[in-house]
Formats: sequence, structure tokens, C-alpha cells
Amino acid sequence: MKLHEFQAKKVLADYLVPVPQGKVAETPAAARDAAHALGGKVVVKAQIHAGGRGKAGGVKVVLGPDEAQRAAAAILGKPLVTKQTGPEGKVVKRVLVEKASEIEQELYLGMLVDREARSVVMMASSEGGMEIEEVASRSPEKILKEWIDPVVGFMPYQANRMADGLGLAKDFGSKLWELGTNLYKAMLGCDASLVEINPLALVAGGFLAVDAKVNLDDNGLFRHPKLAEMRDKAEEDPRESRARDSNLSYVGLQGKIGCMVNGAGLAMATMDLVKLEGAEPANFLDVGGGITSERVAEAFDILMDDQRVEAILVNIFGGIVRCDVIAEGITAATRNRKIDVPLIARLDGTNVEQGRKILEESDLEVTYAANFADAAKKAVEAIGGAS
Ligand code: GDP
Ligand code: MN
Repeated sequence: MKLHEFQAKKVLADYLVPVPQGKVAETPAAARDAAHALGGKVVVKAQIHAGGRGKAGGVKVVLGPDEAQRAAAAILGKPLVTKQTGPEGKVVKRVLVEKASEIEQELYLGMLVDREARSVVMMASSEGGMEIEEVASRSPEKILKEWIDPVVGFMPYQANRMADGLGLAKDFGSKLWELGTNLYKAMLGCDASLVEINPLALVAGGFLAVDAKVNLDDNGLFRHPKLAEMRDKAEEDPRESRARDSNLSYVGLQGKIGCMVNGAGLAMATMDLVKLEGAEPANFLDVGGGITSERVAEAFDILMDDQRVEAILVNIFGGIVRCDVIAEGITAATRNRKIDVPLIARLDGTNVEQGRKILEESDLEVTYAANFADAAKKAVEAIGGAS
């Protein structure tokens, strides 16, 4: 789950990471009031789940309340298109109004889970600000890394080495140690998968987190009800939010073939076969083992609701999941709602006969496939062939 910048900064501030003073505003008038309350120069920042806002005109440094109001009016309620949003952009519903900082230098500081090293890796660069991805690919040597030992935490010698590598003055070693330690506590404390400060600004001899990004590990969310409340459904793919509400393992994609499969491996293989036949899947969906017919129905309804979907491919190998439960779910989903795209099914394994019988006794038109290569082929034929 992604947090907005203003939420991430609130979380980091709780862990004593220095952030600028600021207020969230949903209208230009509120942005004006916020600027007035903060006094002096302020920054008006679009709050969307995507970076690259600076270059796209979503971050404006202004002199006072009048200009803050104007800047907010210029970005609120409209889509902002950045390098990370895709061509349709993301509609800005809020701005963060912050006290502007006199930035002496922009650094980068980030932490993420390094699975291979089984620890968190802290990364820093003197080339902070925008486009850290470009720095990483063009001059990887400019990204310094320190792996944090889970037993002892971020060590002072690591901070000194990093501060030195960043070309900072001597006394910054201890400051970086303090900041890194707090950031690491924040990361562990929220079960985050990524924490990023870009830019980490040098201001008046200290650090300040001018931008912040926090991604939470969904698997740890149940431990953090307060953080879970920060979820902004409007920023997510509506198909994915719905699937998440029903505890379905679903990833929205851009193709035309809606897939319902059991098991992540089979789901991946099904998507591969669709691609091999020259088409694209509309989604990844693993209904999992412990599924009920109600949740199958919900999953099927998500596929039917998807405007992209021109054919539905069901590929089930019954093991723990039973084919009759799947068939019951599908018929339940289509009882009160006519399915208007072709349905291709490959059912095999546990209770396959009962499953088929349920589908045959319903008035659904099902194209059966002998195996899953055949299923993918028939699904692609159903949308008019490879594109
Ligand atoms: P992003 O482009 O979405 O990552 O948004 P950021 O929050 O990182 O802002 C982009 C850039 O705006 C930063 O790299 C800074 O150069 C600039 N910026 C943001 N806040 C301030 C500020 O308080 N003072 C100054 N001078 N520049 C700022
Ligand atoms: Mn940034």
C-alpha cells in the first residue's frame, strides 16, 4: 500500500525524522489559509500516488497566500501527468502547503528490503532531487549502500562511511547516524517495504526531509490499523481495490482476456499462454485454495465489470479448490446478470464432473477446452485472434 507524501511525512515525524511544517488543503481557499498560517514563502505540492511531480508542474514554490491560492487552483481537481502516472495522469484532490526551505544541497536517502541479503539496505546519493532512477542506471557508483544488520541495527561507522562518501562535513556522520536510525525504526515500526527521502535537503547545518515516500507491506497491514486507514482507494485501480476487499490475489493489467485461475503458478502459466497466442491478459487472478463460491462469484463479477474484458478464461485445476465450488460461484455471479462476453473454461481435477454438471444445467454458454494451451487458444480466438 502506498501512502501520500503528507501521510508519509506524518509517519516519519512520529519517528523524529525532521520534516517541514505543513498543512493539507483540498480547496484553493484552504491553501491560502494554510499559507497565511505558515507565513513567508511556501511550497504548494500536489498529493498523488506518483513521483516526478516537480518536473510536471505539481510542485510550486510561492511567495505568500495569494500566490499559494493561485498555485492550488491551477493544480487542484485536474489530472497531473508525470513520468510515473501514465498518459492519463492522476487527479489532484489535495495539496500539501509547506513552509519553503532554503535548500543548500539535495541528497537522496532511501531504505528498502534486500531479500537476497536478508536485511534492509540503506542507499544514499549526493545526486538527490529528481530522477534518482536515472542516477542509478547512468552512474551506479554514485549510489552508496549500507546493509543494516538486523541484530545490531544501523551502526555509527556505517553512518560515518556514508557521510564521508557523500562529501559531507565531519559532524554529519553523527547526524546521519541519528537520521538513519530513526528512519530504520520507522521502516520496521510500520512494516514498510520502502522508505525514501528525495530530496533529503541540507538546510542550516542539518537534514530536512523535503519529500517523503513510504510503501507499506500489505502483509503487515493487519498489525497497523491506523496506517490501514490511510489507504486512498481513489488512487488505486478500482478493480484491485475491490479484489483486495474480498481478499483475492488480483493484479489489473491492460489486455482483453479476463483470467480466473487457481494457484499463482497456473495463473502465470495461463497468462504466458495467452501471450504466446498473441493476446494480452486483462488481469492476474489467483482465487487460491480456501475459496468459497461467494468469493468466486465476486471474482467473476470483477472480471465482468472490467470494460477491457472481451472474453473470460477460467482455468482451474481442482486440488484443494473444488471444481463444483468454482462452477457454483460462476453460476451465482451470472444468475442476475447476463454475461456479455464469451466464456472459455478448462476444468480438471477434484469434482470436475459435478462442476461441469452445474455449468451445463445453468443456461450459460461455455466453450470447454481440453487442456490449458487449448483454453488460451480458444480465448484468443474468441476476441478475434491475435492483436
Ligand atoms: P517530486 O518531483 O514528485 O519528487 O517532488 P519533490 O517533493 O521531490 O519536489 C521536487 C523538487 O522541488 C525538489 O527536488 C526541490 O528541488 C523542489 N522543492 C521542493 N520543496 C522545496 C522547498 O521547500 N524549497 C525549495 N527551494 N525547493 C523545493
Ligand atoms: Mn521527490
